[in-house]
This record gives sequence, structure tokens and C-alpha cells, in this order.
Amino acid sequence: TDRQPQAARNHTASAAAIARAAKVIPGGVNSPVRAFRGVGGDPVFIREASGARMTDVDGNTYIDLVGSWGPLILGHAHPDVVAALTAAAARGTSYGAPTVGEIELAELIVERTPCEMVRLVSSGTEATMSAVRLARAATGRDKIVKFAGCYHGHADYFLAEAGSGVATLGHPDSPGVPAAAAADTIVVPYNDINAVEAAFAAHPGQIAAVITEAVPGNMGAIEPLDGFNEKLHAVTRARGALLISDEVMTGFRVAPGGLAAPADLYTYGKVMGGGLPAAAFGGRADLMSRISPAGPVYQAGTLSGNPLAVAAGLATLRACDADVYRTLDATAAELQRMAGEALTKAGVPHYVSAPSNLFSVFFREGPVRNFDDAKAQDTEAYGAFFHAMLEAGVYLPPSAFECWFTSAAIDEEALSHIEQAMHTAAAAAA
Ligand code: PLP
Repeated sequence: TDRQPQAARNHTASAAAIARAAKVIPGGVNSPVRAFRGVGGDPVFIREASGARMTDVDGNTYIDLVGSWGPLILGHAHPDVVAALTAAAARGTSYGAPTVGEIELAELIVERTPCEMVRLVSSGTEATMSAVRLARAATGRDKIVKFAGCYHGHADYFLAEAGSGVATLGHPDSPGVPAAAAADTIVVPYNDINAVEAAFAAHPGQIAAVITEAVPGNMGAIEPLDGFNEKLHAVTRARGALLISDEVMTGFRVAPGGLAAPADLYTYGKVMGGGLPAAAFGGRADLMSRISPAGPVYQAGTLSGNPLAVAAGLATLRACDADVYRTLDATAAELQRMAGEALTKAGVPHYVSAPSNLFSVFFREGPVRNFDDAKAQDTEAYGAFFHAMLEAGVYLPPSAFECWFTSAAIDEEALSHIEQAMHTAAAAAA
């Protein structure tokens, strides 16, 4: 159980697995932040998971505060999702022809979000890439503005001062991105509307879109200053550009429809796939009608709207009722209180950032308003905290630049376990 004492935790099988994996998979992982580079040490390999808990290949269990980086809002192997997937798999895994399930998922997204139409894709990266292509087509302009520390997937022109794993690894950008692709990306500090205005002034008539995270979560969670999203919309509109609100992380998590700040195009992923690869981009019908085959802007995918992904997404979104959001909010508030108390008691400088159910604990004094602020934290102290939590049976994001993801499966018992672990971990970080 996750009550085993520290000394009982054995990672022999995980250590063997990473050594074996590293021979055939770069760094031994299929997405960089899984490798624990942000906290040191080797990753644990997961064998199975249920509800709030994951079990690794050595038999250690962990209360999961990552939830596959956001999708598992209901916890692991939720019975509705498993039943929907089992039934869908028996009907065939993919047809490459349209299905009624895709309409149901699109209708549900349209019902809950500001989008009039959506196109289903398979990853957040595809959603943001496609939204940018559409914005460029609609405006006849090439440049985009993004915020330092925001992450919108791994397309060439997004890998400029990106957050998430790029921030964890300390890379400002990536080799292999052509200079021409990066030249069309203007990077400005988050929460700085003057910098956005200045970008438009410096490149008149050239900026197709500003892309933002409605609440940035990829440099840790950062609260937008009062009215920032609304000001962004006003500025883009006045300059004939579009605003893309990337809700891959916030969508269907912070509220039933996501943050739904005013924008022209929206992107979704994570929760809407229920742990399977599903994502979407959408917005006003006049813009979305430009997408192929309704219009000339090409976008396609062999597995787009895949029946298993759609089944998992539908089951997840249908199960996300008011109770789920109440539980998520209450759990997040408890975790914020516990972390604050434990770190204060141990004398560890910290800042609990963004008050919603998507939050971060920065290992520095607040406030934290942008990427520079986020980078000025004590990542070594976070690493010590992370490893002590892991040994006490709590799986936190293996990077100081990520959100803590709660799930509706975290119950009172799990919370009291986490609280105990936090006191030990805070002392280790001091
Ligand atoms: N946009 C945001 C805000 C994200 O958080 C992420 C992933 O973390 C992406 C886009 C990319 O999504 P994916 O990893 O599914 O390609």
C-alpha cells in the first residue's frame, strides 16, 4: 500500500526498465518531462492504475497528482470510461469514415464552450498548429505572437521560449527549427499588454494571431492579471488579428467549458480525450468554414475522431457533472492549504499560484507573474520535495514548471496521506 515506510520502497525494476528503454527510445521516454530531468533521478515505470492511485513495476503505489498531465480528471480506469472503451473496441478500432460519436462529441463541445464549430484531431499540438494555419489563412498574415513560458505543443514556430518540458530542460528553443520558422514568432512576456501593443506597432499588418493559454499552466500556473484576456482580445481585434485561446490544459477542467475567455479560436485536448488521443480546435462558424473540405485550408488525420478516443472523451465529459467540479475545487483548495502550511512550518520560501483547481506551488516568494518570475525559483528545493513525496507515495509533477493536477478520485483518505507526506517532504526541502 502507499503506507509503506520510506525504507520499504524498492525501485529495482524501474531502474532496470530505464536502462533497457534508453537503448531503444531516446532518453528512455516518449515525452521528455517523464524522464525526471527536472528533479534528478530515474523515472518510475507504471504498471497499472485505478482511481487516485498508480502502481509501479516494483509494486509501489502512489497517489497521482499528475493524472497523465491533465486528462484523467475522473481518476484512472473510471468505470464509465472503461465500459465505453470496451464496448467501442468490440465494434472496431477505426473506420476512416465518419461516425455518429464524432457528432455527439462535437455537439457536446459546442454546447459547453464558446465554439460554434470544431474539428477533431488527435493531439494538442495538432490543434494549435491547425488553429494557427487557419488564423494565417483568414488574415493573410504570417507572424504570430506568443508568450514566453507558454507551451502550445512542439510545432517549429512554437518552440521559442516555450514552457513545459522545454522549460524543465532549460532550452530557450530547439535545434532543427529553421530560422525562417522562428522568425515569424514574436515572443513577449506574459501579463504585459504593453509588450503586445509594441509587437503590433513594430510589425504593422503582419501579425495573424496572438496565441495564449487562458491561464498559463506550462511555466507553472500563472494567473492572468485582471482583464488581461479581455485586453488581448480588444488589441487583436483593433489590429485585424485573431486571438487563439489555447485551452488544451484548462478546457473542461477549470469549469465545464473551460475558461471560455473571449477569443476567435480555441484549442482543446487532454480532458476531452479521457486519456486517449483526442483534441480539437474550434471557433466561429465563419472561420471554421474555411477548413477543408468546407473551405480551402487543409487539415486532416488518419485517426482524427477515432472511435475509441471519442468513446473515452464522451464518457469522461458526460461524467463531469457539477459534483465533479465541486470535488476538484475542494480538493485543490485543500492541497493548496496543506502545501502552504507544511512549507511555511518548515521555513521553505514558496508561493501557491493561481487559485483555481489548476494551480502550482512555486519554490520562491510570490508574486509570480511571468516566465522570468517562474524561473527564479529554487528548483533544487523542489527536487528534494518531489523525491520525498515520491518516497512517501505521492506522485507530483517531476518538474517545478508544471501544474498539480487533481482528480475527482482523490478522497479524504488520500488527502490525509498527502498531508502527512507534505510535512516530511517540506522538511526535506528546507
Ligand atoms: N497546449 C497546451 C496549453 C498544453 O498544455 C499542451 C500539452 O501539454 C499542448 C498544447 C500540446 O498538447 P499535446 O501534448 O497533446 O500535443
